[in-house]
Amino acid sequence: MNIVPKKSLGQNFLLNEQIIKQIVDLGKITNDSIVMEIGPGTGNLTKEILKKKPNKFIAIEKDKILFSKLKNEFNLNVELLNQDVLKFNWENFKNQNIILFGNLPYNISSKLLIDWVRLSNLNCIFSKLILMFQKEVADRIVADVNSKKYGRLTILTEWKLEAKKVMDIDPENFFPKPKVKSSLVYFKPKREFFNFKNSRNLEKVTDIFFQNRRKMIKKPLNILFKDSERIIQKLKLNNSHRPQNLDSLTFFKISKEYEDRIN
Ligand code: SAH
Repeated sequence: MNIVPKKSLGQNFLLNEQIIKQIVDLGKITNDSIVMEIGPGTGNLTKEILKKKPNKFIAIEKDKILFSKLKNEFNLNVELLNQDVLKFNWENFKNQNIILFGNLPYNISSKLLIDWVRLSNLNCIFSKLILMFQKEVADRIVADVNSKKYGRLTILTEWKLEAKKVMDIDPENFFPKPKVKSSLVYFKPKREFFNFKNSRNLEKVTDIFFQNRRKMIKKPLNILFKDSERIIQKLKLNNSHRPQNLDSLTFFKISKEYEDRIN
């Protein structure tokens, strides 16, 4: 391979054929499917996806050199975009029910996830998302309430998505070997979810709580509300709890109160 992987673009190419097959099979691609891939890189996953003959395939690659190599290799039935996925306009893909794959660049993976959660019509853009994260981030996404890893990323994910860790993947399966373990997470957008006027209210509330992760919940509540006592009574909160003891539904309710507090 005459490619010098760029660290700045999180280039760790997945080499293990067995794992690549397993990942692509999870998509259950049919000839009706619209499939997208973020960061196709050297095309390892791309080749396997195309074997399933989806109706449409779109890939977004930021690296110009890799992009032109891919362009030469896959010409006909592939729409390749030389773009930064962080600037991609997903709203244009309403009602497409995309099956999304991505061995994501680790430096942007949680930002991307939060960008998706913010999309008001996430559940009609994607039918499933099959994504690779560094293990530490995946563990935070799927963490249980009352655990150390439970936090903002867990709650924001749970708001819009069902998330399941499929497997951990050792560094040996990539080139170059990343320093950390990776994990594959399977997401399905929820049809029904808690309704906010502005998702930033949930983001703000979880921010304040988890900046005070070790404090009892009275402290963040006092920061957020003038009448925190009323909120404690109304939502039957336990004063001695810490943020990690509140389930996501409780965070949604607190955020709703925060959103309505002016009235
Ligand atoms: N899917 C391939 C490559 C994964 S490495 C494989 O599994 O082998 C991550 C890929 O994402 C690289 O190809 C990198 O160039 C690309 N990438 C990094 N940042 C990006 C961005 N902001 N937008 C689009 N692609 C990006």
